[in-house]
Amino acid sequence: MENLKLSLKNISRITPKYLKTLEKMGIFTVNDFLFYFPFRYDDFSKIVPVSQDYLNQVITIEGKIKKTKNVRIFRRRLTITEIIIEDENSTSLKAVWFNQPFILETLKEGMEVRLSGKLSLDKKTFSMNSPAWEKSSRDMTNTGRLIPVYPETVGITSKWIRWQIKMLLPIIKNMPDILPSETRKKYNLYDVYTALNQIHFPDSKEKLIRAQKRFAFQEMFLVQIKTLQIKKDWEEKNSNNIKFDEKLIKTFVKNLPFKLTNAQRKASFEILKDLEKPRPMNRLLNGDVGSGKTIVAAISALQAISAGYQVAIMAPTEVLARQHFESFCKIFENYNFNIALLTNSYKLFCHCERSEAISKLNNEIATVAVLPRNDMLKEISSGKINLVIGTHALIQKDIQFKNLALVIIDEQHRFGVNQRAALQIGVETPNLGVSTVPHLLTMTATPIPRTLAIAFFGSLDLSVLDEMPKNRKPIITKIITSEGRDKVYNFIRSEIKKDRQIFIILPLIEESLSESMADVKAAKVEFERLSKEIFPEFKLGLLHGKLKAKEKEEVMQKFSAKEIDILVSTSVVEVGIDIPNATVMIIENSERFGLSQLHQFRGRVGRGENQSYCFLFSGNKEQKSLFPTRLKIMEETNDGFKISEKDLELRGPGQFFGTLQSGLPDIAMEHLGNVKLIKFARFEAQEILKSDPKLKEHSELQNALQKFSEKIHLE
Ligand code: ADP
Ligand code: MG
Repeated sequence: MENLKLSLKNISRITPKYLKTLEKMGIFTVNDFLFYFPFRYDDFSKIVPVSQDYLNQVITIEGKIKKTKNVRIFRRRLTITEIIIEDENSTSLKAVWFNQPFILETLKEGMEVRLSGKLSLDKKTFSMNSPAWEKSSRDMTNTGRLIPVYPETVGITSKWIRWQIKMLLPIIKNMPDILPSETRKKYNLYDVYTALNQIHFPDSKEKLIRAQKRFAFQEMFLVQIKTLQIKKDWEEKNSNNIKFDEKLIKTFVKNLPFKLTNAQRKASFEILKDLEKPRPMNRLLNGDVGSGKTIVAAISALQAISAGYQVAIMAPTEVLARQHFESFCKIFENYNFNIALLTNSYKLFCHCERSEAISKLNNEIATVAVLPRNDMLKEISSGKINLVIGTHALIQKDIQFKNLALVIIDEQHRFGVNQRAALQIGVETPNLGVSTVPHLLTMTATPIPRTLAIAFFGSLDLSVLDEMPKNRKPIITKIITSEGRDKVYNFIRSEIKKDRQIFIILPLIEESLSESMADVKAAKVEFERLSKEIFPEFKLGLLHGKLKAKEKEEVMQKFSAKEIDILVSTSVVEVGIDIPNATVMIIENSERFGLSQLHQFRGRVGRGENQSYCFLFSGNKEQKSLFPTRLKIMEETNDGFKISEKDLELRGPGQFFGTLQSGLPDIAMEHLGNVKLIKFARFEAQEILKSDPKLKEHSELQNALQKFSEKIHLE
């Protein structure tokens, strides 16, 4: 145990220069170093004699050194190192290296050597170019087996790491294993010592896979324990139990202008059942864009408000918050509710009373009362306001609710971990002497593959809207090569003449999360081109991330009011606003985006009655055959869950989460498609917590968990 925590400073082989580099890589202890895993392996395991049969194959040869020489070519500042060896059949082979004259300090004539590399034929002589080499008398570390290759870092070679790791491995022979032995036996998993040995120096591919499985299982096991603990902590809190009023809900649903989908019914029921419990709900509502999450949220809000409680809805942007405000004022027009919109720029108040308020709202939102912030806060703390809608401005400390019982977070993945945490703590309200927390409903419009949802959101209960409202026309999607561009532009003209509106999405030049000035410039150039050369007869608007909130708002408001025909926007700008009249979405350089992201963009059209279209453009003069085949699936389906499963398969899970993606080791990530592994890990985590809830008898596991929690967040 102590050996594991041992600082690498105590290892004399590792000189200060190397120590420094390792520290930069986050490697301080023996344990850190041993858990620095290879990212790939060279297969040098085929040990054979030199022969025509293996030409152009990667092999390992053993033989005696017959000749050595360093040749300097001054003109080209090049040193060529050459050795000739003879194998057991006396077949000779020439090995050549460039600019590594020091090799001959080790390799001498008469010595037995092992070489690994690709066998070729050079003027009738067998040869190898820059093979890996090692004296035959030494252990197979760099040749003759599966060789680990570590992520490249300046100043440290894989060869050096191999040597160090090989020396460190024996000293941890008795290291404690955080996976209980029964668990290991049950799933046929290596113990940690064997697994570490096999992951660095695998004896075979099969053993390597077994070692990787073991670590993937271990990580998932930790994730599951952590999520179960979070869940348990949450469930130990108190909340207001809100009785399900069947008549109220039935009447509301009956008066909707549409029939709920079965998925909406089921989700609503699950939520209403949760609200009845004196334990806080913590539920994720996962449904594609347009699947109708708002109504489900409204049903739960209606229940809570009617029972006399307050409800808060939090959206990630002002635009979305405002849109919710408008939607909810309308949805509750026949209820006597007071609704407030509270963001940095808006302090709006709406008393829903029959159609009067609503008609005002529809004509001109500004006629809804504007309240000074302080008055608004007073109305919230007095309980007069039933429903508060806002951005994270809602979590500010001076906002006091009278009896907040339900918090709904829209697009939860776009809030930072800290904001989400603050919301949960911030809303804790003393109520009748008992401290209660509100029920929490989070919503996300990114369809999350089931395995991911289990893996990451194990602390939440899950409701899925996997069914679209019936009246929805599937969006027609087409991949467009450069020849098709003009045709699409003509199509756009005909659509605008029919009074429809168009979105054009531009990608970032570099793949990054924020927009650079170069991106803005490129967007402006494209906007100019479209305005002047392509569509001079129409009105275009431009949105990019460097605009001020007010300016963005203005552009969107204009688009919404049909004063703009074509909205050109960079991909980082959230155009969450609902424009039912927009029927065409063009995505430039579509190959740069992940499928899930494309699907999100596409979701901005197809919200009205008219047939909508999505055209996936490619940036340069690429032929259709060069388009990644993965884009085909966009043409084939509108089902967000199908698309996200595919995306998970193709690009891994990282893209689905902002803050979550960081920290989880690649090895666990790679196995996230493995449903069985996740299920088993969850089961074992449940078992261990059942017998030892505080992990008192599993101190190693507790330590590992502590370390793990510092790295990743699962709340
Ligand atoms: P999202 O899940 O993206 O938040 P919304 O709740 O905004 O979706 O719903 C999108 C649109 O579909 C809204 O105009 C809403 O009124 C409508 N809608 C919701 N449920 C149904 C349904 N069952 N049948 C028909 N239209 C519906
Ligand atoms: Mg929504």
